[in-house]
Parts: sequence; structure tokens; C-alpha cells
Amino acid sequence: MESSHRTPFHPPERSASLQSLIRHKLPELVELERLLAEFNSQITHRVLGNVTYQEHSLPIYAIDLGTHDANKPRLLICGGVHGVERIGTHVVLALCRVWFRRMQWEKSLLECFRQISVTFIPIVNPVGMLLGRRSNGNGVDLMRNAPIDAEDAPFMVSGQRISSWLPWYRGKNNEFELENKLIENEVQRLTQETPLLLSLDCHSGYGVSDRIWFPYAYRRRPMNDIAPVVALKLLWESSYPNHRYVFEPQSNNYLTHGDIWDYFYKKYGRNRALFLPLTLEMGSWNWVRKRPLQLLKFEGLFNPLVPHRQQRTLRRHLPLMDFLRHAVNSFENWVPNPDEKRSLTQMAHSLWYKDI
Ligand SMILES: [Zn+2]
Repeated sequence: MESSHRTPFHPPERSASLQSLIRHKLPELVELERLLAEFNSQITHRVLGNVTYQEHSLPIYAIDLGTHDANKPRLLICGGVHGVERIGTHVVLALCRVWFRRMQWEKSLLECFRQISVTFIPIVNPVGMLLGRRSNGNGVDLMRNAPIDAEDAPFMVSGQRISSWLPWYRGKNNEFELENKLIENEVQRLTQETPLLLSLDCHSGYGVSDRIWFPYAYRRRPMNDIAPVVALKLLWESSYPNHRYVFEPQSNNYLTHGDIWDYFYKKYGRNRALFLPLTLEMGSWNWVRKRPLQLLKFEGLFNPLVPHRQQRTLRRHLPLMDFLRHAVNSFENWVPNPDEKRSLTQMAHSLWYKDI
């Protein structure tokens, strides 16, 4: 049952053993609940649902801020879908702290939040994060779990139904995991009435570059309405010319089954909202390249383990997040009209789809 609070925040009653487990294995939840307590008067939080680990229950929180006017544009920011990629959650929590603190003094930020709403889901997969693994408590890779099949995908890494003991397990046929159902409820709700929903799902990825991915993961052909994505890419690159994200469809890298953003885009992309689902893939090889000893720790493959590198990562993506907030607020100034769409669609083909 979903609940919503603006009364003083108290963490749920927990046994001493669960408290100790969370403190040692899931400090991100401690930080999240600390934010809820500290900034209680400025934000609203909801428990979207609870997932279980052994006899314990762990909440999946959403934090809302901004206008309640459903006709205004919206931003959704998620992290921690893959439990081992903790840095995604760290980036989201760091952003929460920055914006919540700035809301206490910065008029222009408050003005912005009168025009848009933002929903954060910082820890989508708390059991996976507690266990330090990619999959959820059922051994399912949440990013391979949606009922959508890739057209020509590599074996295993694209998702498999052989066993939950192997990586990239898609789950049983047609069983959508609870964590994904909870995100789906949010996407369904957030794409109603509003003119625009822009989402950003924060992961750590392979390679040295930071990448911004957009659908599709399941096929090489472009999204039905690719023009707004090109417009957003051009807006970002002209406004922040010294930032070096690779902006591309996931299919430029590899195809996968069951990508939830593919699935949500196909299912809700025709709602009233223009829906632009983006994924941030932070290049993790940078951290490994500069500190090969990281490879001795499994989580070192996916996260910066040295404090100054962690800090650098946390501040590095703030301009992107602020840009997305401004882009959502000023969407009328860049979402293309039908005439502009033709040339932007041509540009998309020459940028990303020349080979098909
Ligand atoms: Zn990931």
C-alpha cells in the first residue's frame, strides 16, 4: 500500500539485526532516510512498496518535490537498479542533497520547482545493493526483465532464462518483478496529463566515456519519434560545449532483451506526454584504469573506491542534472515542431542509423 507523508520522518521500526545489516551493507538507505528527516518540510516522500530479504523488509522510497499541477512537465530520476552499481545511487543522493539545500535560499530554484515536478527513486533495488550484486532478491536482472525481446541479440549478456544463478537472468516468462512494477506505476502516472516526462536512470557502464543512452535496446531501428532526442542532444552540446558525454541509442553498443525503458516507451510513449527516457552510463573503466587494484574487489569494477574519485564523480554529473531540470522547465523552447522534426529525423539517421 502506498503511503505519503509530510509529518516528521521516522524510519520504520526495525530489529537490531536489520539495523546493523543496513548500517554495514546498505549505508545508502541510511543516507536516504537522513535526507528525508533533514529536509522533511520541503519534500514529500512515499514508500512505493517493500521488498524482502530473508525475514527482513526493505522500503523502496520515492521523493517528490515541485508543483502538484499535473499539467506541468516532469522529471524522474532513478538509481540503484543494478545493486552493484552503487555509484548510480550515490549520484542521485548527492543531487538530492544539493537541490534540497539550495531550495532553502535560491529563489530561481524555487521558482523552477513551481513550474515542474521532480520524482526521485534513489534505490530501486535495495536487496541487490545490500547483497552487492546486480540482480534483485530473486536473482533477476531488472534491466532484462521486461516482456520485450531483442531482434538479434548476443547470447547471455542480452538476457537469459536458463538460471538465476547465472548473470543477466530475465526471470520466468511474463513475470515482471515487483521493483519494475513499482517503476512502471510511476511512469504510467507521470505520463498522464503532463506535456513532458523526461527520465534519467543512473548506472555505471563499461568503457571510459560517460554515455547518455536512449531507446532502443531491443532493435537497431530508431524510436518512433526520434526528433526530440536529437533536439535535446543539440541543446545540451551547444549549451555545455566542454562536456563530453557520448549521446547515442543503446543499440549502437549492443542489443538486449527486456530493457524496461524500451518497454515503458513502447507502452506509455503514446500517452499525452512526450516521454524521453534516458540512461546515464558512467564510464567505470576510468576508475579501474587509474587504480587497477580495484579489480580485486567485485564492486571495484563498477564504482570509484577512492574518496577523491568518488567526489569527482558526484560533482561531475551535476551540470547534466541541472541542464535536464532547465530543459524540462523550458521545454517549449526546444521540443521541435512538425517542420523541424523532418530535418532532425534526418540528422538522427546520419548520426546513429547509417548502417541500417
Ligand atoms: Zn546498470
